[in-house]
Amino acid sequence: MKKIEDIFNFTEISDSCIKCGKCIPVCTIHNINRDEVTSPRGFIELLGEYKEGKLELDRGAKDIFESCFLCTNCVDICPNSLPTDMVIEEVRADIADRFGIAWFKRLFFTLLRHRKLMDIMMKFGYTFKSCGFKEDTQRGGIIPRFPMPIIKSDRLLPSLSKVSFLNRYPEEIDNGGKRRVAIFIGCLANYNYTTIGDSLIEISKKLNINLFIPKKQMCCSAPAYFTGDFYTVEKLSKQNIEYFESFIDEVEAIIIPEATCSAMIKHDWEIFFRNRGMEDWANRAKKLSRKIFMATEWFEKFTNLKEILAQGGVKFQDRVTYHDACHAKKVQGVYREPRELLSQNYNIVEMSDSNRCCGFGGVTMQSEKYHLAELAGIPKAKMIEESGAEVVSAECSACRVQISNSLYQSNIDVVFKNPIELIADALKGSR
Ligand code: SF4
Ligand code: SF4
Repeated sequence: MKKIEDIFNFTEISDSCIKCGKCIPVCTIHNINRDEVTSPRGFIELLGEYKEGKLELDRGAKDIFESCFLCTNCVDICPNSLPTDMVIEEVRADIADRFGIAWFKRLFFTLLRHRKLMDIMMKFGYTFKSCGFKEDTQRGGIIPRFPMPIIKSDRLLPSLSKVSFLNRYPEEIDNGGKRRVAIFIGCLANYNYTTIGDSLIEISKKLNINLFIPKKQMCCSAPAYFTGDFYTVEKLSKQNIEYFESFIDEVEAIIIPEATCSAMIKHDWEIFFRNRGMEDWANRAKKLSRKIFMATEWFEKFTNLKEILAQGGVKFQDRVTYHDACHAKKVQGVYREPRELLSQNYNIVEMSDSNRCCGFGGVTMQSEKYHLAELAGIPKAKMIEESGAEVVSAECSACRVQISNSLYQSNIDVVFKNPIELIADALKGSR
Protein backbone atom coordinates (compact mmCIF):
# COMPACT_ATOMS: atom_id res chain seq x y z
CA MET A 1 0.00 0.00 0.00
CA LYS A 2 1.19 3.53 -0.78
CA LYS A 3 2.57 5.70 2.01
CA ILE A 4 0.87 8.96 2.84
CA GLU A 5 3.69 11.13 1.45
CA ASP A 6 3.23 9.39 -1.93
CA ILE A 7 -0.45 10.28 -1.91
CA PHE A 8 -0.52 13.91 -0.87
CA ASN A 9 2.16 16.46 -1.48
CA PHE A 10 2.21 18.03 1.96
CA THR A 11 4.57 20.81 1.02
CA GLU A 12 2.36 21.78 -1.88
CA ILE A 13 -0.77 21.72 0.30
CA SER A 14 0.97 23.63 3.06
CA ASP A 15 2.28 26.22 0.58
CA SER A 16 -1.16 26.56 -1.01
CA CYS A 17 -2.67 27.65 2.27
CA ILE A 18 -2.70 31.44 1.95
CA LYS A 19 -3.56 31.75 5.68
CA CYS A 20 -6.68 33.74 4.84
CA GLY A 21 -8.46 32.29 7.87
CA LYS A 22 -11.81 31.89 6.09
CA CYS A 23 -12.00 28.33 7.39
CA ILE A 24 -11.58 29.30 11.05
CA PRO A 25 -15.13 30.51 11.91
CA VAL A 26 -16.75 27.46 10.28
CA CYS A 27 -14.44 24.85 11.80
CA THR A 28 -16.35 22.57 14.16
CA ILE A 29 -13.42 21.76 16.43
CA HIS A 30 -12.12 25.34 16.49
CA ASN A 31 -15.54 26.57 17.56
CA ILE A 32 -15.29 24.50 20.72
CA ASN A 33 -11.51 24.63 21.22
CA ARG A 34 -10.29 28.05 20.13
CA ASP A 35 -6.68 27.15 19.58
CA GLU A 36 -4.86 27.64 16.25
CA VAL A 37 -3.55 24.05 16.32
CA THR A 38 -7.09 22.72 16.26
CA SER A 39 -8.11 24.64 13.15
CA PRO A 40 -7.81 23.70 9.44
CA ARG A 41 -4.94 26.19 9.04
CA GLY A 42 -3.23 24.73 12.11
CA PHE A 43 -3.72 21.13 10.93
CA ILE A 44 -2.19 22.01 7.55
CA GLU A 45 0.78 23.72 9.21
CA LEU A 46 1.38 20.68 11.42
CA LEU A 47 1.06 18.32 8.46
CA GLY A 48 3.72 20.35 6.63
CA GLU A 49 6.02 20.06 9.66
CA TYR A 50 5.30 16.33 9.90
CA LYS A 51 6.32 15.87 6.28
CA GLU A 52 9.53 17.86 6.79
CA GLY A 53 10.39 15.68 9.78
CA LYS A 54 10.06 18.57 12.22
CA LEU A 55 7.05 17.01 13.96
CA GLU A 56 7.01 13.56 15.46
CA LEU A 57 3.78 11.61 15.28
CA ASP A 58 3.62 11.26 19.06
CA ARG A 59 0.59 11.02 21.37
CA GLY A 60 0.20 14.80 21.37
CA ALA A 61 0.02 14.90 17.56
CA LYS A 62 -2.35 11.90 17.60
CA ASP A 63 -4.60 13.75 20.01
CA ILE A 64 -4.66 16.82 17.74
CA PHE A 65 -5.34 14.95 14.49
CA GLU A 66 -8.08 12.91 16.14
CA SER A 67 -9.91 16.06 17.21
CA CYS A 68 -11.04 16.95 13.67
CA PHE A 69 -14.73 16.16 13.05
CA LEU A 70 -14.15 15.57 9.30
CA CYS A 71 -17.13 17.81 8.68
CA THR A 72 -15.64 19.26 5.43
CA ASN A 73 -16.75 22.81 6.32
CA CYS A 74 -13.18 23.98 5.73
CA VAL A 75 -12.96 22.37 2.27
CA ASP A 76 -16.27 23.94 1.32
CA ILE A 77 -15.17 27.47 2.14
CA CYS A 78 -11.45 27.35 1.29
CA PRO A 79 -10.62 29.49 -1.80
CA ASN A 80 -8.06 26.83 -2.79
CA SER A 81 -10.31 23.87 -1.88
CA LEU A 82 -7.54 22.36 0.22
CA PRO A 83 -8.49 18.76 1.13
CA THR A 84 -7.83 19.10 4.87
CA ASP A 85 -10.31 16.34 5.78
CA MET A 86 -8.80 13.85 3.35
CA VAL A 87 -5.25 14.51 4.49
CA ILE A 88 -6.32 14.01 8.10
CA GLU A 89 -8.03 10.73 7.15
CA GLU A 90 -4.73 9.58 5.65
CA VAL A 91 -2.71 10.70 8.69
CA ARG A 92 -5.08 8.72 10.89
CA ALA A 93 -4.02 5.58 9.01
CA ASP A 94 -0.39 6.42 9.95
CA ILE A 95 -1.55 6.95 13.54
CA ALA A 96 -3.33 3.57 13.50
CA ASP A 97 -0.15 1.90 12.17
CA ARG A 98 1.96 3.49 14.85
CA PHE A 99 -0.28 3.27 17.93
CA GLY A 100 -2.70 0.53 16.95
CA ILE A 101 -6.48 0.80 17.20
CA ALA A 102 -8.28 0.50 20.55
CA TRP A 103 -9.63 -3.02 21.27
CA PHE A 104 -13.30 -2.03 21.16
CA LYS A 105 -12.90 -0.35 17.76
CA ARG A 106 -11.05 -3.40 16.42
CA LEU A 107 -13.88 -5.57 17.70
CA PHE A 108 -16.45 -3.28 16.08
CA PHE A 109 -14.65 -3.28 12.72
CA THR A 110 -14.29 -7.07 12.88
CA LEU A 111 -18.05 -7.32 13.31
CA LEU A 112 -18.56 -4.94 10.39
CA ARG A 113 -16.50 -7.32 8.24
CA HIS A 114 -18.61 -10.32 9.33
CA ARG A 115 -22.33 -9.74 8.84
CA LYS A 116 -23.41 -13.05 10.42
CA LEU A 117 -21.41 -12.37 13.58
CA MET A 118 -22.84 -8.85 13.76
CA ASP A 119 -26.35 -10.28 13.41
CA ILE A 120 -25.72 -12.61 16.36
CA MET A 121 -24.23 -9.81 18.49
CA MET A 122 -27.15 -7.51 17.75
CA LYS A 123 -29.66 -10.25 18.61
CA PHE A 124 -27.81 -10.87 21.85
CA GLY A 125 -27.83 -7.12 22.54
CA TYR A 126 -31.56 -6.92 21.87
CA THR A 127 -32.33 -9.86 24.18
CA PHE A 128 -30.35 -8.51 27.11
CA LYS A 129 -30.64 -4.76 26.57
CA SER A 130 -33.10 -4.28 29.44
CA CYS A 131 -30.42 -5.51 31.89
CA GLY A 132 -28.10 -2.62 31.09
CA PHE A 133 -30.35 0.01 29.55
CA LYS A 134 -33.70 1.63 30.09
CA GLU A 135 -35.88 2.37 27.08
CA ASP A 136 -36.91 5.94 26.23
CA THR A 137 -39.76 5.27 23.79
CA GLN A 138 -40.63 8.95 23.44
CA ARG A 139 -37.21 9.74 22.00
CA GLY A 140 -36.65 6.33 20.43
CA GLY A 141 -33.47 5.43 22.28
CA ILE A 142 -31.95 3.65 25.26
CA ILE A 143 -30.12 5.07 28.28
CA PRO A 144 -27.47 3.14 30.26
CA ARG A 145 -28.61 2.17 33.76
CA PHE A 146 -25.04 2.50 35.08
CA PRO A 147 -21.66 3.81 33.84
CA MET A 148 -20.05 1.49 31.30
CA PRO A 149 -16.39 1.11 30.25
CA ILE A 150 -16.71 2.93 26.90
CA ILE A 151 -20.04 4.66 27.39
CA LYS A 152 -19.20 6.59 30.52
CA SER A 153 -21.89 9.19 30.70
CA ASP A 154 -25.63 9.26 30.94
CA ARG A 155 -26.48 9.47 27.26
CA LEU A 156 -29.16 8.52 24.80
CA LEU A 157 -28.09 5.74 22.46
CA PRO A 158 -29.90 4.19 19.49
CA SER A 159 -32.10 1.27 20.48
CA LEU A 160 -31.79 -2.18 18.90
CA SER A 161 -34.42 -3.90 16.78
CA LYS A 162 -35.54 -7.47 17.30
CA VAL A 163 -34.99 -8.35 13.63
CA SER A 164 -32.68 -6.40 11.33
CA PHE A 165 -34.05 -4.80 8.17
CA LEU A 166 -32.11 -7.18 5.93
CA ASN A 167 -33.48 -10.23 7.77
CA ARG A 168 -37.03 -8.92 7.85
CA TYR A 169 -37.88 -8.71 4.14
CA PRO A 170 -37.51 -10.98 1.12
CA GLU A 171 -34.84 -10.19 -1.45
CA GLU A 172 -37.41 -9.25 -4.10
CA ILE A 173 -40.51 -7.14 -3.52
CA ASP A 174 -42.79 -6.98 -6.52
CA ASN A 175 -44.92 -3.84 -6.36
CA GLY A 176 -46.48 -4.50 -9.73
CA GLY A 177 -44.43 -1.96 -11.65
CA LYS A 178 -41.89 -1.97 -14.46
CA ARG A 179 -39.13 -0.11 -12.65
CA ARG A 180 -36.76 -1.82 -10.24
CA VAL A 181 -34.34 -0.26 -7.74
CA ALA A 182 -32.02 -1.72 -5.13
CA ILE A 183 -31.81 -0.55 -1.52
CA PHE A 184 -28.55 -0.09 0.35
CA ILE A 185 -29.67 0.34 3.92
CA GLY A 186 -26.60 1.19 6.04
CA CYS A 187 -25.79 -0.39 9.42
CA LEU A 188 -27.70 2.00 11.70
CA ALA A 189 -30.90 1.67 9.67
CA ASN A 190 -30.36 -2.08 9.44
CA TYR A 191 -30.01 -2.74 13.18
CA ASN A 192 -31.26 0.34 15.01
CA TYR A 193 -33.57 2.66 13.08
CA THR A 194 -35.36 -0.06 11.11
CA THR A 195 -38.47 2.06 10.53
CA ILE A 196 -36.47 3.91 7.85
CA GLY A 197 -36.36 0.75 5.72
CA ASP A 198 -40.03 0.00 6.44
CA SER A 199 -40.84 3.51 5.22
CA LEU A 200 -38.77 3.10 2.05
CA ILE A 201 -40.78 -0.02 1.27
CA GLU A 202 -44.10 1.76 1.88
CA ILE A 203 -43.12 4.66 -0.42
CA SER A 204 -41.96 2.32 -3.20
CA LYS A 205 -45.22 0.37 -2.94
CA LYS A 206 -47.19 3.57 -3.43
CA LEU A 207 -45.08 4.37 -6.51
CA ASN A 208 -45.32 0.79 -7.90
CA ILE A 209 -41.56 0.49 -7.95
CA ASN A 210 -40.22 -3.04 -7.55
CA LEU A 211 -37.49 -3.49 -5.01
CA PHE A 212 -34.37 -5.58 -4.81
CA ILE A 213 -32.91 -5.87 -1.30
CA PRO A 214 -29.37 -7.23 -1.82
CA LYS A 215 -28.86 -9.55 1.14
CA LYS A 216 -25.09 -9.77 0.85
CA GLN A 217 -24.47 -6.03 1.13
CA MET A 218 -21.81 -5.12 3.66
CA CYS A 219 -21.07 -1.96 5.65
CA CYS A 220 -19.95 0.89 3.36
CA SER A 221 -16.77 1.08 5.53
CA ALA A 222 -17.14 4.76 6.51
CA PRO A 223 -16.62 4.10 10.27
CA ALA A 224 -13.29 2.40 9.51
CA TYR A 225 -12.27 5.07 6.97
CA PHE A 226 -12.67 7.89 9.48
CA THR A 227 -10.69 5.92 12.06
CA GLY A 228 -7.76 5.04 9.80
CA ASP A 229 -8.46 1.27 9.58
CA PHE A 230 -7.74 1.02 5.87
CA TYR A 231 -7.52 -2.78 5.93
CA THR A 232 -11.24 -2.87 6.74
CA VAL A 233 -12.01 -0.16 4.14
CA GLU A 234 -10.29 -2.11 1.38
CA LYS A 235 -11.92 -5.41 2.34
CA LEU A 236 -15.47 -4.08 2.64
CA SER A 237 -15.40 -1.80 -0.38
CA LYS A 238 -13.95 -4.50 -2.68
CA GLN A 239 -16.50 -7.03 -1.46
CA ASN A 240 -19.35 -4.56 -2.04
CA ILE A 241 -18.07 -3.47 -5.47
CA GLU A 242 -17.92 -7.07 -6.71
CA TYR A 243 -21.40 -7.73 -5.35
CA PHE A 244 -22.97 -4.52 -6.71
CA GLU A 245 -21.50 -5.26 -10.16
CA SER A 246 -23.37 -8.57 -10.17
CA PHE A 247 -26.77 -6.82 -10.25
CA ILE A 248 -26.15 -3.19 -11.24
CA ASP A 249 -27.32 -3.66 -14.86
CA GLU A 250 -30.63 -5.06 -13.66
CA VAL A 251 -31.58 -2.08 -11.48
CA GLU A 252 -32.24 1.56 -12.29
CA ALA A 253 -30.45 2.80 -9.19
CA ILE A 254 -29.20 1.89 -5.74
CA ILE A 255 -30.99 4.19 -3.33
CA ILE A 256 -29.59 4.95 0.12
CA PRO A 257 -31.50 6.72 2.91
CA GLU A 258 -28.19 7.60 4.62
CA ALA A 259 -25.90 10.52 3.74
CA THR A 260 -22.67 9.08 5.12
CA CYS A 261 -23.02 5.66 3.45
CA SER A 262 -24.03 7.29 0.18
CA ALA A 263 -21.08 9.73 0.25
CA MET A 264 -18.68 6.90 1.07
CA ILE A 265 -19.92 4.72 -1.80
CA LYS A 266 -20.41 7.48 -4.36
CA HIS A 267 -17.25 9.50 -3.66
CA ASP A 268 -14.82 8.08 -1.15
CA TRP A 269 -14.40 4.57 -2.52
CA GLU A 270 -13.04 5.97 -5.76
CA ILE A 271 -10.77 8.44 -3.98
CA PHE A 272 -9.52 5.74 -1.60
CA PHE A 273 -8.46 3.44 -4.45
CA ARG A 274 -7.18 6.27 -6.66
CA ASN A 275 -4.95 7.53 -3.83
CA ARG A 276 -3.37 4.10 -3.51
CA GLY A 277 -2.76 3.63 -7.23
CA MET A 278 -5.44 0.92 -7.50
CA GLU A 279 -6.80 2.37 -10.72
CA ASP A 280 -8.89 -0.63 -11.73
CA TRP A 281 -10.83 -0.60 -8.45
CA ALA A 282 -11.14 3.19 -8.59
CA ASN A 283 -12.65 2.98 -12.08
CA ARG A 284 -15.05 0.23 -11.02
CA ALA A 285 -16.19 2.35 -8.04
CA LYS A 286 -16.62 5.35 -10.36
CA LYS A 287 -18.74 3.36 -12.79
CA LEU A 288 -21.04 2.21 -10.00
CA SER A 289 -21.32 5.72 -8.55
CA ARG A 290 -23.49 6.84 -11.49
CA LYS A 291 -26.32 4.73 -10.12
CA ILE A 292 -25.90 5.67 -6.46
CA PHE A 293 -28.41 8.17 -5.05
CA MET A 294 -29.60 9.35 -1.71
CA ALA A 295 -33.21 8.15 -1.40
CA THR A 296 -34.90 11.59 -1.31
CA GLU A 297 -32.75 12.77 -4.22
CA TRP A 298 -33.83 9.83 -6.39
CA PHE A 299 -37.51 10.05 -5.45
CA GLU A 300 -37.60 13.79 -6.09
CA LYS A 301 -35.72 13.72 -9.39
CA PHE A 302 -36.95 10.51 -10.98
CA THR A 303 -40.49 9.84 -9.70
CA ASN A 304 -43.77 11.71 -9.25
CA LEU A 305 -43.65 11.34 -5.45
CA LYS A 306 -43.90 15.12 -4.97
CA GLU A 307 -47.19 15.26 -6.89
CA ILE A 308 -48.56 12.23 -5.05
CA LEU A 309 -47.70 13.87 -1.73
CA ALA A 310 -49.27 17.15 -2.79
CA GLN A 311 -52.48 15.54 -4.02
CA GLY A 312 -52.98 12.57 -1.73
CA GLY A 313 -50.71 13.05 1.25
CA VAL A 314 -52.04 14.16 4.61
CA LYS A 315 -51.17 17.75 5.57
CA PHE A 316 -49.76 17.71 9.06
CA GLN A 317 -49.55 20.83 11.19
CA ASP A 318 -46.13 19.82 12.57
CA ARG A 319 -43.26 22.21 12.11
CA VAL A 320 -40.21 20.39 10.79
CA THR A 321 -36.73 21.85 10.80
CA TYR A 322 -34.22 20.29 8.39
CA HIS A 323 -30.60 19.68 9.33
CA ASP A 324 -28.15 19.52 6.41
CA ALA A 325 -25.89 16.56 7.12
CA CYS A 326 -22.29 17.35 6.07
CA HIS A 327 -22.18 14.28 3.82
CA ALA A 328 -25.47 15.24 2.14
CA LYS A 329 -25.19 18.93 1.31
CA LYS A 330 -21.46 19.58 1.16
CA VAL A 331 -20.34 16.26 -0.29
CA GLN A 332 -23.31 15.36 -2.54
CA GLY A 333 -25.14 18.65 -3.03
CA VAL A 334 -28.39 17.15 -1.67
CA TYR A 335 -30.42 19.66 0.38
CA ARG A 336 -33.19 20.94 -1.93
CA GLU A 337 -34.77 17.53 -2.65
CA PRO A 338 -35.79 16.50 0.90
CA ARG A 339 -37.20 20.00 1.52
CA GLU A 340 -39.20 19.87 -1.74
CA LEU A 341 -40.79 16.58 -0.70
CA LEU A 342 -41.36 17.41 2.97
CA SER A 343 -42.84 20.84 2.29
CA GLN A 344 -45.84 19.20 0.57
CA ASN A 345 -47.16 17.92 3.90
CA TYR A 346 -45.27 19.68 6.71
CA ASN A 347 -44.46 23.24 7.68
CA ILE A 348 -40.75 23.65 7.14
CA VAL A 349 -39.13 26.10 9.52
CA GLU A 350 -35.45 26.74 8.96
CA MET A 351 -33.07 26.76 11.91
CA SER A 352 -30.52 29.59 12.06
CA ASP A 353 -27.69 27.49 10.59
CA SER A 354 -28.86 24.18 9.13
CA ASN A 355 -25.37 23.67 7.71
CA ARG A 356 -23.59 23.67 11.05
CA CYS A 357 -22.11 20.23 11.78
CA CYS A 358 -24.05 18.30 14.45
CA GLY A 359 -20.77 17.05 15.95
CA PHE A 360 -21.08 13.29 15.38
CA GLY A 361 -17.52 13.01 14.12
CA GLY A 362 -17.14 9.19 13.88
CA VAL A 363 -16.35 6.28 16.20
CA THR A 364 -13.43 7.94 18.01
CA MET A 365 -15.40 11.12 18.62
CA GLN A 366 -18.32 9.10 19.99
CA SER A 367 -16.11 7.10 22.34
CA GLU A 368 -12.69 8.39 23.48
CA LYS A 369 -13.46 11.98 22.49
CA TYR A 370 -17.10 12.03 23.45
CA HIS A 371 -16.57 15.24 25.49
CA LEU A 372 -15.89 17.06 22.19
CA ALA A 373 -18.97 15.58 20.50
CA GLU A 374 -21.01 16.67 23.51
CA LEU A 375 -19.72 20.26 23.28
CA ALA A 376 -20.27 20.43 19.51
CA GLY A 377 -23.83 19.14 19.91
CA ILE A 378 -25.09 21.84 22.28
CA PRO A 379 -25.30 24.75 19.76
CA LYS A 380 -27.11 22.49 17.27
CA ALA A 381 -29.65 21.45 19.91
CA LYS A 382 -30.17 25.08 20.86
CA MET A 383 -30.81 26.24 17.30
CA ILE A 384 -33.28 23.38 16.81
CA GLU A 385 -35.15 24.52 19.91
CA GLU A 386 -35.12 28.16 18.75
CA SER A 387 -36.62 27.17 15.40
CA GLY A 388 -39.84 26.27 17.24
CA ALA A 389 -40.07 22.93 15.44
CA GLU A 390 -41.60 19.78 16.92
CA VAL A 391 -39.56 17.56 14.62
CA VAL A 392 -35.98 17.72 13.35
CA SER A 393 -35.12 15.75 10.25
CA ALA A 394 -31.98 14.72 8.35
CA GLU A 395 -31.29 11.86 5.98
CA CYS A 396 -28.47 10.55 8.12
CA SER A 397 -28.59 8.16 11.06
CA ALA A 398 -25.18 9.27 12.36
CA CYS A 399 -26.68 12.77 12.74
CA ARG A 400 -29.69 11.10 14.37
CA VAL A 401 -27.49 9.45 17.03
CA GLN A 402 -25.74 12.73 17.79
CA ILE A 403 -28.69 15.14 17.56
CA SER A 404 -31.06 12.90 19.54
CA ASN A 405 -28.49 12.71 22.33
CA SER A 406 -27.74 16.46 22.20
CA LEU A 407 -31.47 17.19 22.52
CA TYR A 408 -31.70 14.74 25.41
CA GLN A 409 -28.69 16.29 27.18
CA SER A 410 -30.20 19.76 26.74
CA ASN A 411 -33.66 18.58 27.85
CA ILE A 412 -35.26 19.76 24.60
CA ASP A 413 -38.46 18.04 23.58
CA VAL A 414 -38.01 17.65 19.81
CA VAL A 415 -38.25 14.32 17.98
CA PHE A 416 -35.82 13.24 15.24
CA LYS A 417 -37.11 11.55 12.09
CA ASN A 418 -35.51 10.64 8.78
CA PRO A 419 -37.32 12.43 5.88
CA ILE A 420 -38.20 9.00 4.46
CA GLU A 421 -40.15 8.20 7.64
CA LEU A 422 -41.96 11.56 7.50
CA ILE A 423 -42.88 11.02 3.86
CA ALA A 424 -44.25 7.53 4.57
CA ASP A 425 -46.28 8.99 7.46
CA ALA A 426 -47.78 11.58 5.11
CA LEU A 427 -48.69 8.88 2.57
CA LYS A 428 -50.42 6.67 5.09
CA GLY A 429 -51.87 9.57 7.09
CA SER A 430 -50.68 8.44 10.50
CA ARG A 431 -47.61 8.27 12.71
S1 SF4 B 1 -13.05 18.96 8.64
FE1 SF4 B 1 -14.32 20.26 10.02
S2 SF4 B 1 -13.43 19.99 12.08
FE2 SF4 B 1 -11.92 19.22 10.59
S3 SF4 B 1 -10.57 20.95 10.20
FE3 SF4 B 1 -12.16 21.02 8.61
S4 SF4 B 1 -13.78 22.37 9.46
FE4 SF4 B 1 -12.43 21.78 11.17
S1 SF4 C 1 -9.48 28.77 3.97
FE1 SF4 C 1 -7.94 27.46 2.95
S2 SF4 C 1 -6.31 28.89 2.32
FE2 SF4 C 1 -7.58 29.98 3.85
S3 SF4 C 1 -6.53 29.54 5.82
FE3 SF4 C 1 -8.11 27.99 5.58
S4 SF4 C 1 -7.04 26.25 4.62
FE4 SF4 C 1 -5.73 28.07 4.33
